[in-house]
Amino acid sequence: MRTRIVVVGHGMVAARLLDELGRLTADRSAPLLDVTVIGAEPHRPYNRLLLSEVIAGRADLGRLTLPAPAVSSGMTLRVLRGTYATDLDRKRRVVTCDDGSEFAYDTVVLATGAAARLPLPDAAGQGVRVLRTIDDCRELLAACSYPRRVTVVGAGLLGLEIACGLSARGAGVHVLHRGGQVMDRQLPVEAAKVARATLADTGIEVLTDADLESLRYDGDQLVGVRLRDGRAIPSDLVVASVGVAARTEIAVQAGLPVRTGIIVTDALRSPADPRVAAIGDCAEPPSGCTGLLAPGWAQADQLARELVGRRGAEDTASPRHTSAVVKLKAVGVDVVTIGDGPEPPAHARTVTLSDPEGRRHVQVSVFEQRVVAACCVGAKRVAADLTAAYERQTPVPDDPALLLLDALPSATVPATDDPTTMPSRATVCRCNGVTKKDIVDAHLAGSRELSDVAARTRATTGCGGCTEVVCGLLAWMDDVSPAKDVAQPKHSRNDPGNIALVASSGTDKEIT
Ligand SMILES: Cc1cc2nc3c(=O)[nH]c(=O)nc-3n(C[C@H](O)[C@H](O)[C@H](O)COP(=O)(O)OP(=O)(O)OC[C@H]3O[C@@H](n4cnc5c(N)ncnc54)[C@H](O)[C@@H]3O)c2cc1C
Repeated sequence: MRTRIVVVGHGMVAARLLDELGRLTADRSAPLLDVTVIGAEPHRPYNRLLLSEVIAGRADLGRLTLPAPAVSSGMTLRVLRGTYATDLDRKRRVVTCDDGSEFAYDTVVLATGAAARLPLPDAAGQGVRVLRTIDDCRELLAACSYPRRVTVVGAGLLGLEIACGLSARGAGVHVLHRGGQVMDRQLPVEAAKVARATLADTGIEVLTDADLESLRYDGDQLVGVRLRDGRAIPSDLVVASVGVAARTEIAVQAGLPVRTGIIVTDALRSPADPRVAAIGDCAEPPSGCTGLLAPGWAQADQLARELVGRRGAEDTASPRHTSAVVKLKAVGVDVVTIGDGPEPPAHARTVTLSDPEGRRHVQVSVFEQRVVAACCVGAKRVAADLTAAYERQTPVPDDPALLLLDALPSATVPATDDPTTMPSRATVCRCNGVTKKDIVDAHLAGSRELSDVAARTRATTGCGGCTEVVCGLLAWMDDVSPAKDVAQPKHSRNDPGNIALVASSGTDKEIT
């Protein structure tokens, strides 16, 4: 008898859950699972993080599709695309979809993500865009296909990524921010000033304490925005990046407790019904909602282990997640922060190096010989060193100043991405904790294409920042270990015999 799991939503976190379930059920002692996933978007799951990179022209829409989940004989998988789950009947334990189909469950997992908010209640009109889905991305690209005057509302992480991307495409960009500084959830005031000056150097004007009052139209045509203090900014296009709202519709309909997101316990179950779990951007665990991928992936891994009866970190080779590292993926502006917010921890020793003229600002906090927080603007190399030291918890000097003067002697990521000199233990993919050795091992086991390595190790499936290095490693391995007959990888995507794709409805579209 198979345990029936219905997953509502097929975004990045659901995709991770399915992959982890596939890996775990390869173990013959795991219970047999019958999994149905219902996704409203018509596409295969794709890397949402890279949508801003597509806007910047640094990633290709056609290459965002995530690797197919690992497969095993212990799990059957039914995938529905372009299908919206409308109803969750907790008494009958059935999920109903907009096409009338019904799926019975033993456990239902809500992974419905979040939707972009609008800056004004009536702002969904002509000339206003958001960036959350691949369709949003296409619309935004079409809307700025020639240089235009764009106003981005919101100077958080995503707002700045969009602003830099559109500016790189030749648009004249203003950024409006309600708060007093850019990235106010991450950056200390002085660091924010340096980031703002760097943005200005690239032609992006940031207006802080800027409260949007209204959009101005000439007929149907957007012509500008007006602020509450009377300022007016001419614009042909407004892109809203003022945060997200968890998608809780189905939980509300089912009478489950909801606050910012769908409330769940530490075990990721609804306190009102242990047969309902929620993970990712839609969930509100006791630690709160983050809107970031790493915590969602950690939840997916945790839930997968629990669903196959393998609790505890020692049961899994899952990577350690580093949700406290935030990197701005923006053209021309390097910002990395480590820690829980703009303020350095009071108990730590903190040193700051500020060089506004050189557009550099670095701050690092050390406690008990460990990096516990940092913020780096315009200091790519130091940021990489500090991130590596933080993630590996490498012992560092008690005096934080030493970390700002030299590259760390032993804790650093490689000074060069040259695969021949990179140490084996060097982390290549930070999002998934994948090392050079993991890539080399994958290659030796027969994964020679980037997509195979991504499927096997998960490298490149997060922020995508490691893609170039992984390609370099593969090219190097092709030279030192040319192809010969090799064993098939255990979780081969080329071996559909392991998976029972029971049914698929909706348009099973590739992203083009
Ligand atoms: C441009 C951009 C850049 C980002 N950059 C970063 C970054 O650098 N770092 C970071 O940590 N995070 C980043 N994020 C946030 C990150 O993408 C999210 O945290 C992550 O995608 C959450 O995954 P999820 O599966 O919970 O939700 P989603 O990815 O939103 O997926 C949820 C899916 O569920 C579907 N759905 C909803 N309701 C239903 C229903 N009733 N029935 C069927 N399907 C339904 C939705 O259509 C959607 O496909 C970024 C987001 C964007 C948009």
